[in-house]
Amino acid sequence: MNVVTTEAIVLRSYNLAEADRIVVCFTRDVGLIRGVAKGARRMKSRFGAALEPFTIVKLEFREKENRDLVTINGAEILKSNFAMAANIDCSEALGYMAELVSEFAPPHEANEKLFRMVAACLEALAMAPNASKIILRYFEIWILRLAGSFPDATACAICGASLTTQPAFLDFESAVRCGTCSRGVGTRLLPQVRQLLLKSQQLSPAQFAETCAGTLADNDAELAEFTHRLIVRTLERRPRTLTAFGAVAQP
Ligand SMILES: [Zn+2]
Repeated sequence: MNVVTTEAIVLRSYNLAEADRIVVCFTRDVGLIRGVAKGARRMKSRFGAALEPFTIVKLEFREKENRDLVTINGAEILKSNFAMAANIDCSEALGYMAELVSEFAPPHEANEKLFRMVAACLEALAMAPNASKIILRYFEIWILRLAGSFPDATACAICGASLTTQPAFLDFESAVRCGTCSRGVGTRLLPQVRQLLLKSQQLSPAQFAETCAGTLADNDAELAEFTHRLIVRTLERRPRTLTAFGAVAQP
């Protein structure tokens, strides 16, 4: 048995039997874990509100060999995000982020970059709840990028031509081609959208939300089509919680 103490983001929790809860957390040191919090549903539970989704906690749990499910010993709130979860747009965004993290992050495998990215997006969302759409696009780009599922959009995958001045298209194998090599087939990537992709690489989510809000307002549908296509191809299914944002992304 191994006791672990680590910073964690609570992604989801659901009831188990009469008094317990199952909690899905993305931890800094161990990656994605599922744990049982005994007695968490009792009125005077020692967990209090620490296991609410999107709370950032100091989590202590016990791992058992050959057991996927860990036992949560304690959770201390580092930052609660209750206010954010109460905002309808934010709470939809959070649900979608939780699903993508659970799908993209392999269980029991630390991913410091992904942890920092998710934490930064949560912070940006807490500061600018009305920018949930733009922060989500940033989140999608980065979760794909960190998974190695994001194509290079600066040069044609076939002939290597620079794409800075010409139209680009996403082909069916998720590579980006120039106009000639694609023959105009595939998802079109407007120059403004490529500009947004480039910016997302250089900026934090809060900076991205602040500086790119104008460009994104006119190009969100195109960018969303691009990111959603890549996500669906990577996961080989449509995320369950994408529906609402799919609707938002429709022109
Ligand atoms: Zn080409």
